[in-house]
Amino acid sequence: QLTSGFETAWNKLRGVDVLTKENIAEPMRDIRRALLEADVSLPVVRRFVQSVTDRAIGADLIRGVRPDQQLVKIVHGELVQLMGGEVSDLVFAKSGPTVILLAGLQGVGKTTVCAKLAFYLKKLGKSCMLVACDVYRPAAIDQLKILGEQVGVPVHSEGTDVKPSQIARNGVEEAKKKNIDVIVIDTAGRLQIDKAMMDELKEVKQAVNPTEALLVVDAMTGQEAAALVTTFNIEIGITGAILTKLDGDSRGGAALSVKEVSGKPIKLVGRGERMDDLELFYPERMAGRILGMGDVLSLVEKAEEVMKKEDAEEMQKKIMSANFDFNDFLKQTRMVAKMGSMSKILGMIPGMSKVTPAQIREAEKNLEFMESMINAMYPEEREKPELLAESRERRRRVAKESGKTEQQVSQLVAQLFEMRARMKKLMGVMQGGSIPALSD
Ligand code: GDP
Ligand code: MG
Repeated sequence: QLTSGFETAWNKLRGVDVLTKENIAEPMRDIRRALLEADVSLPVVRRFVQSVTDRAIGADLIRGVRPDQQLVKIVHGELVQLMGGEVSDLVFAKSGPTVILLAGLQGVGKTTVCAKLAFYLKKLGKSCMLVACDVYRPAAIDQLKILGEQVGVPVHSEGTDVKPSQIARNGVEEAKKKNIDVIVIDTAGRLQIDKAMMDELKEVKQAVNPTEALLVVDAMTGQEAAALVTTFNIEIGITGAILTKLDGDSRGGAALSVKEVSGKPIKLVGRGERMDDLELFYPERMAGRILGMGDVLSLVEKAEEVMKKEDAEEMQKKIMSANFDFNDFLKQTRMVAKMGSMSKILGMIPGMSKVTPAQIREAEKNLEFMESMINAMYPEEREKPELLAESRERRRRVAKESGKTEQQVSQLVAQLFEMRARMKKLMGVMQGGSIPALSD
């Protein structure tokens, strides 16, 4: 729903030339509504809408990008910031085993995450051991043992009458003896936060001094997840969160609020019941997924890239100095080709003029043609195209080496001089822009 709410917003900007305070007011109301419906907390929504508005009004126009697309990009950037900006990697101990303590309410997926983490760490080349500290249900210990076996890592467990902090301490000792890199401690959860649970977690934490203390939260709980992370952080001190069940019918609010509300990053996300369904949390990707507009984002990025100021300035200097050569020609044609693949994207957006696949193939074939001819030129010929204009011998050689006809090479050379002339005209610099006739 979040995605469709955003779409309503973009659609209202079709046809406007520039983003203004007035014309973004209504789309911003749609965005606000979409976020609230996704269960993002009100203060977070307010701040978000404010910063998007500020940035949108001050935004520079980008050639080839419509204002609605520009707003998509701005919203994307702000979403990424909201979720913490950068990916927040797991921290590993500098010496000795890394201890990861997992906490969380009952049923959120802690025990599953233990096994998934072990699977993930094994892929990183680290040895791993699980420690069963949920002693209240014998079934919980068995569950961890079965999962441990599934992913091929040892599980340290003791009787249900041993204190969790003691089990945790013993587990770490055993791991040290066995030279194991990472220990993941599974703990008991309850339906609600209570003092007994917090006290037990504090004890375990004190006993093992974990490198990471991660709160596992269920994405389906929306803004409740952010509140939980805050509470656990205040009570026992945590280093981050793991968001599970993102594959479910979650409305996205949890992912958006946790960092902003609690100050703690989401480090990992779980998207299913399979062992390989755990991955690092990338704010960038999550924002893209929420917007569901990857195409528009890459369009704007491409346009920005193509128009990188330095490039433009350098090119301009080149043109002004009348030295525009085949190296520049290649660079410029590649730029145009980039814009070509951009128009491919434009074609995918409803309402945009369609570029036919045949046209794109044609353009790409042309570029290939030109590149092979330019590649067959000597460096001095690329820098001084006059050499090619003056010598039929040279043109013949280039044709032969690139497998093209002499006529095609001549055309390319002529094209370069035409471009020189046209660009000079364009720049209003009219000195000596004549097109030399090719000698034969
Ligand atoms: P714990 O009580 O916190 O240890 O939770 P469990 O690890 O026992 O998981 C509770 C239930 O949630 C199990 O049925 C898991 O298979 C399921 N589960 C855990 N993580 C995910 C997830 O990312 N996606 C889905 N769809 N189910 C999950
Ligand atoms: Mg469990």
